[in-house]
Amino acid sequence: MGTRKEPSLTQDTPTIIGRIPEKSGKTPKTGDEERVCAEPSCDTKLTRYNTSEHCYRHKPRRFPRVRGRLR
Ligand SMILES: [Zn+2]
Repeated sequence: MGTRKEPSLTQDTPTIIGRIPEKSGKTPKTGDEERVCAEPSCDTKLTRYNTSEHCYRHKPRRFPRVRGRLR
């Protein structure tokens, strides 16, 4: 015994620990900005889970066959 290394005190700088920000209770920023539907006349908010640029109503889905264009 006796070979136990003591933690260097120089590294143990007495930083301010346990300092609670005065403005607590605010939702932490997650980096997601509010997005709305890409449709100009629609301002449905998109959740961050919605990877589409449109809301579920304007979300482009499988086009039901374009007539007159393709042959
Ligand atoms: Zn929309």
